[in-house]
Amino acid sequence: MLPSAADVVVIGGGIAGCSTAWEIAKRGGNVVLLEKGRIGGEQSSRAWGFVRQQGRDPAELPMMIAGNRIWQELQAELGEDIEWVQAGNLKIAYDDQRLEELRGWLPIAREFKLDTELLTPAQIRDLIPGIIGRIAGGMFTPSDGHAEPSKATAAIGRAAERAGAQVFTYCAAEAIEVSGGHVSGVVTEKGTIQTPVVVCAAGGWSKHLARGVGLSLPQITVRNTVAESTAAPPITPICVWAPDVAFRQRPGGTFYLAGGGTSDYDITVESFRNTRLFAANYVKNRKMFHLRVGADLAKDVLRKLPGSESREHPFAHTVDVEPEPNLETAWSSLKGLKRMFPMLGDVGMKRVFAGMIDSTPDALPVIGGVDGPRGFFFATGFSGHGFALGPIVGKVMSELILDGRTDFDLRPLRFSRFAEGDMAKAKKMV
Ligand SMILES: Cc1cc2nc3c(=O)[nH]c(=O)nc-3n(C[C@H](O)[C@H](O)[C@H](O)COP(=O)(O)OP(=O)(O)OC[C@H]3O[C@@H](n4cnc5c(N)ncnc54)[C@H](O)[C@@H]3O)c2cc1C
Repeated sequence: MLPSAADVVVIGGGIAGCSTAWEIAKRGGNVVLLEKGRIGGEQSSRAWGFVRQQGRDPAELPMMIAGNRIWQELQAELGEDIEWVQAGNLKIAYDDQRLEELRGWLPIAREFKLDTELLTPAQIRDLIPGIIGRIAGGMFTPSDGHAEPSKATAAIGRAAERAGAQVFTYCAAEAIEVSGGHVSGVVTEKGTIQTPVVVCAAGGWSKHLARGVGLSLPQITVRNTVAESTAAPPITPICVWAPDVAFRQRPGGTFYLAGGGTSDYDITVESFRNTRLFAANYVKNRKMFHLRVGADLAKDVLRKLPGSESREHPFAHTVDVEPEPNLETAWSSLKGLKRMFPMLGDVGMKRVFAGMIDSTPDALPVIGGVDGPRGFFFATGFSGHGFALGPIVGKVMSELILDGRTDFDLRPLRFSRFAEGDMAKAKKMV
């Protein structure tokens, strides 16, 4: 039974929402978590699983470093196997120009006292025996790690419930009620909950929920394809990210593979909002995106037709959707892996899937409250970094809500930066 009231309602059962509900419940807060589908059904179970500090923007790095420490204890605290491995993250450069770009990030690593170093091709061959190919060097952070997204998010959801959070799946939040400039309730498909505090942790759907209370959140989604190979003997426990293939080997021997960071961007009606805000970062990273015009645009137009079921219930209507994987990318990433490790000649493809990554114009999340309505908080816009950040975001959100403050500097992550034109400078992703 949906309660009639709660102190806090968290919308979205991805890693950000589950961690927030868990941290609030651990401290005795009366919190409800609403998820329109299943826990972790969207991005948070489809991520590559890299828990990576290296290459991050300084604005999110303090949280990423604190988050890494939580990850080191998380498996024990959850009491469940989430395939946590702390063996480092290696970014490989095939040419000197890319190596120089990686070198450019080292002063940030030093400033934040990270264990990041630049490796020579010989050092990389020592670190990962059997690797071949033209390698100019790489950037390595031994304290980085990886975990299994499909296990971790569900486990955090279960922990939230054990700690006292009331979790409702297949229960979409349809609207947020406001009275006198303050959040007063959440209308769901199963009834209304009175609440003074709402956390919008709805991944790529956050912009739609926010629009309902007059907030314009610039947010797009891109489609990223992941392949899982058949099992192979152990090659390396390190997460590796090369220009044509990114991979990590799971404890069972299969590899998660992706196309080195390239994603498909399906043009939808939404694409024509905030184009100016996204332009600078797009231009810097355009090689990472393949623009697609097709079914998604047509579906989006249909969704907006008056009287359509999807217009009436836009959130409940999008449950359990499987984004279409890009098979070309999947096969080329498997080829890329075998080029690096010819001894994996027999390894095949076990499955392919895709996930929709939500992103803001400056590729930084939006975390914290807003000028109005009071009681409304964002924990969204993670721009491909949210799996690693999820657990620390939960902690930060619980501090903001229960203590009214946090030690982290959230100014660069505030919602108002977009309207103020004070976003982080466009940068090439490292
Ligand atoms: C293929 C892929 C690879 C990635 N690799 C990495 C990686 O290696 N490392 C990393 O750190 N990050 C990675 N990411 C990014 C990371 O997965 C996301 O940043 C993170 O999972 C975002 O978590 P979230 O909780 O904000 O969103 P989500 O996981 O998308 O969760 C939001 C939830 O809100 C629910 N929801 C939406 N609207 C409503 C509503 N109205 N009512 C109720 N529920 C609602 C949705 O159903 C969804 O379950 C990757 C992402 C993808 C897709």
